[in-house]
Amino acid sequence: HKKVQSILYLSGVTKSFDGFKAINNLSLDIAPGELRAIIGPNGAGKSTMMDIITGKTKPDEGDVKFKDTIDLTRHDETDIANMGIGRKFQKPTVIESLTVWDNMELALAGNRGIFQTLFWKLSDDKKLRIEEIIKQIGLAEKTDDLAQNLSHGQKQWLEIGMLLIQEPEVLLVDEPAGGMTDYETMETAKLLKEISQEHSVIVVEHDMDFVRALDCKVTVLHEGSVLAEGTLDKVSSDKRVVEVYLGR
Ligand code: ADP
Ligand code: MG
Repeated sequence: HKKVQSILYLSGVTKSFDGFKAINNLSLDIAPGELRAIIGPNGAGKSTMMDIITGKTKPDEGDVKFKDTIDLTRHDETDIANMGIGRKFQKPTVIESLTVWDNMELALAGNRGIFQTLFWKLSDDKKLRIEEIIKQIGLAEKTDDLAQNLSHGQKQWLEIGMLLIQEPEVLLVDEPAGGMTDYETMETAKLLKEISQEHSVIVVEHDMDFVRALDCKVTVLHEGSVLAEGTLDKVSSDKRVVEVYLGR
């Protein structure tokens, strides 16, 4: 069958809140397996863009396509998550009173519900996969620790692991480096680079050291549309980008 050109494709997307255009004629094209960083000042529309892709918000106008042909504007949030578009929010939503392993099992059980999960037997394959992911997110030594005993950064990694176990095709990650130590920030960049070898990954982030470490194409959002796109060096030497960041 035909090869997918764009894992995500947005064109002419507009979204207003009380007459204010939070997203204004936005276009974005993400290739399968691509790692893309989205930057832009506060209020640029980054989170709203994520909301539109994941079906949390419906655009007023424009195309939002998954794998070239699937019209995401016609699906709700649950459908879109089940199609393989996983999202990590800014705040971790791990369950503090459960261990790292149990959080992973719960993520795998998904919407089966806690009661059914109690009687649900994990296959050896899935156990192996959980082990693999826990190792990948750097928490092998913490497998049996309660999530409440993890650092902020480790909780973020666990959350990324909880998305990975659901085998998404696309991962959307909103400001993962916020509140992390420098070391955790660099480890997170490494982790996302690694993950992007098997999944498409879109990362919204302010931290420029982090974005530099991602070493990928960057899209600069401003007032709800794309101001510049290219390597970090290219966009950060763009006069308009400099003005947007320094001029206010
Ligand atoms: P970013 O994530 O880039 O900081 P957001 O997407 O959160 O920006 O917000 C873009 C603009 O849209 C902001 O001016 C914000 O106040 C506005 N906005 C976002 N969501 C809503 C909403 N639900 N109701 C009203 N205004 C909103
Ligand atoms: Mg935001």
